[in-house]
Amino acid sequence: MTQKKFKIFIDFDGTISKIDIGEAVFEQFGDKEKVDRIIKNLLEDKITAKECWIALCETAQIPNKAALDNFIDSIEIDRTFHNLINYCKENNFDYYVLSDGFDYYIDRIFLRENLTHIPYFSNKLTIDEDIRLIPFFPYIDENCLSSANCKRNHVINHSGDDDFTVYIGDGNSDKSTVEFCDFIFAKHDLLRYCEKERITFFPYNNFDDVITRLETLKTKKRLKKRHRAELKRREAYLVE
Ligand SMILES: [Mg+2]
Repeated sequence: MTQKKFKIFIDFDGTISKIDIGEAVFEQFGDKEKVDRIIKNLLEDKITAKECWIALCETAQIPNKAALDNFIDSIEIDRTFHNLINYCKENNFDYYVLSDGFDYYIDRIFLRENLTHIPYFSNKLTIDEDIRLIPFFPYIDENCLSSANCKRNHVINHSGDDDFTVYIGDGNSDKSTVEFCDFIFAKHDLLRYCEKERITFFPYNNFDDVITRLETLKTKKRLKKRHRAELKRREAYLVE
């Protein structure tokens, strides 16, 4: 039996990190009321993800870089994430982290966790001499409003016809992307979204649950791609 090729795409905030760092940084170093209002507008589709990040960066008042770094260092990741990466390596499955957050804290956390080899795509953040946060959006796409880093494009660009695409996520920035994936692992807001939109998914609590499920899928004799995802991918190719 030929080995099945899974391509694994993983959200960062709230999926790998235990809390949403993007949000938490602004709640820690900004006006909580303003931050909540901006995020509420995003969740109600009144503003785009890019507009949300720009507004949040404007509210942040960070006393010094060390305060920001210490805060990031206090945030834990789901320890079972290491198991998933080891599992992918053992099985030769490609994996990518797709984040609508920022490279600044992802780099710092991956360094701490000895995971700097993981390929990832995210928005970018620089800090100027007045400790103001300046966001950049290298992967913006006007067709992806709920994520300033258009995750859908990364899925399409990094998977081929023979691949089974797997997406693991938890929230708003994953919503439009899961439509294009064959196997979806969802929790929290993403789970509720999949239920509402009648998108087939697997619920999960941690990455060990994902590994168990992938083991089953891997050994299935006739594994099928999700038909709706195939149609969506074809549609996206035609438009571009
Ligand atoms: Mg998330």
